[in-house]
Parts: sequence; structure tokens; C-alpha cells
Amino acid sequence: MVNYTLWSNIRALAQTKKKGRKIGKLRFKSAFRYRTLNYNQSGFKIDREHEFITFSKIGALPFRMHRPYSGDVKGVLITRSGGEWYVIIQAEQKVSEPKREGRSVGIDVGLNSFAVDSDGTVIENPRLFEQSRDRIKKLQQSGTRKKRFSRNWKTAKSRLEKVYDHITNQKKDFLHKLSRQYVDAYATICVEDLNIKYLKENGKSTGLRRSIHDASWGRFYSYLAYKAESAGTNLIKVDPRDTTQMCSNCGSIVKKTLSERVHECPCCGFVADRDYNAAVNIHRVGMEQPFEPVEMLCISQPGKFPICRAVETMPLHRISVMQVLSMKQEAPP
Ligand SMILES: [Zn+2]
Repeated sequence: MVNYTLWSNIRALAQTKKKGRKIGKLRFKSAFRYRTLNYNQSGFKIDREHEFITFSKIGALPFRMHRPYSGDVKGVLITRSGGEWYVIIQAEQKVSEPKREGRSVGIDVGLNSFAVDSDGTVIENPRLFEQSRDRIKKLQQSGTRKKRFSRNWKTAKSRLEKVYDHITNQKKDFLHKLSRQYVDAYATICVEDLNIKYLKENGKSTGLRRSIHDASWGRFYSYLAYKAESAGTNLIKVDPRDTTQMCSNCGSIVKKTLSERVHECPCCGFVADRDYNAAVNIHRVGMEQPFEPVEMLCISQPGKFPICRAVETMPLHRISVMQVLSMKQEAPP
């Protein structure tokens, strides 16, 4: 299984490169970094009634089941995290929900806020790492003072691991709850196709801040995708071409740099938050409601175009991270 994982990682990297994203090299993973053991198809036996799981070469171990599962068990993962051992059971289930009818929405993910949708809702960025920054710093310092591989060093290391795991769990919790809210509220959700986006950027997404965002956007979209699938919600991926530059009110192309936060259309006077404008465009493209671009007319007759009117900036409805997190816990797949 380790061999198989290695080769599939290499293949996945090659695929990612093909999609136009920048890739690095695989790093040697020492035994200290290795935390997962994979039993694929066979080598395990689960006794749910007595809460015992038997692994070949290991033996029978008692376990506590947090969540019941159903379907065909395809594999079992054993993973160690922060001093605890977890068993992840992979089961296959057939889900086919009829497609729903109802409201639709476009969502744009951004850097300043996590996401903005075409109904004017702004989801703030979760600052989860910042909340734990002091604690991480303290634990890192305490770890470097210890003798390597000593008992104290191991304790310090596992404490640090726990904090990192906590942040990862908080992030996942946030993304699960947010995607759940969207899937429950809308019958059709339109998002940008990130693969096309990266292909167009030639893998030039630089900067740590950006790469962290990339990871959580990707995860958000995959959560949306599988939740939509089992709820009968349509998830439409649109070509991100011109979604930021185009005026969502009249269709003119309004060039703007990444630092410009406000969309101001010189043709129709529409003023809106940059990401909100993009979300409306994503919604329109996804729902296939095209309009005629009026760029030419604007240039020849500035200010005289019939639909020239001042549109007031739409008041956006801000949602804090706490509002998302206060939802009841979302069960993982
Ligand atoms: Zn306009």
C-alpha cells in the first residue's frame, strides 16, 4: 500500500502539472512523519457489535464508534493524530437524488473575504491560525530546547501536533458548515472552474497567503460537490473568463488590478464590491443568461448610452465566521 500510495502521488503530481499548476518534488518521509496505515479491500475484520476490529499482522483491537456507517466497506485507514489512534472506514454507497428546483446563486471566492455570493452575502475569512499563533510559537520554542528524540521532546512534539490538528479541524468544520448552508438553501450553485483558472494563470499563483487560500477553496468546492450530489443540488462550474472584469450590470469590460476592491463602471455607473460583481457574473454565466456586451457603444458615446444610470452600491450582508461555526456539527462523509 505504501508503494501504491507513492506511485499514485507521483501520478497525481503529473496530472496537476498538466492542469497548469506549479508543482514541487516529493519529499522523503521519515518514520516520524508517517502517521497512516492503509488496509485496502482486505486484511481487516470489523465486529461492530462488540466494537472490536481485527487487523492482519496486528491483532484484535477494541474501538469506539463515533458515527455509524453503511454501505460496502472498501478499505480501512489507521491514522495517528496528536497521540490518539483513529480508524477511518471507507464505505461505498449509491446515492441518486432527483434534481431540485428552486433558487440559484453564484459564489466567488476571494482574498479579502472568504467568499461573496450573488445575493450579496459576504463570508468573512476565518482567522483560525492567527488565534493559535502565540500558542504555536510557545510550543515550538519549548520543543527546540529539548534533546532530540528524548521523552520530553516527544511530548512537546505531540502537543504541537495537537494544536495543528485542532486548527485543521476548525477549518474543516467551517468549510463543512458553510457548504452545507449553501447546499440547503439553493437548488443551483454556480462557482468558477478552478482548473481552467489555473491553466490560464500558467501556474503562476505565487505567495504563501495565496497557496493557503487555494487549498481551502479547493476543499470548499469539493465539499460543495459531494453535498450537492447527495442533496439533488446542481453544481455548475463556469469558465472564469472575464468574471472579475465584466460589469455585471451592462456587460462592459472594466479592467482592474488585483488591488482594486471596488468595481466602478464608467458606462452605466454601476458601483459594487469587486467580488460581488464577480459573483453576479458567475451566476449569470452559470444560469446561461447572456447579454450583449456594450463596450463599443460606451467608447463612442460616453454618458449617452440609454441604460446609463447611477446604480447604488448594493448593501452587502456580512456573515462572520462565528455565525457559520455556530451551526450544529456537520457529519463528515
Ligand atoms: Zn456597466
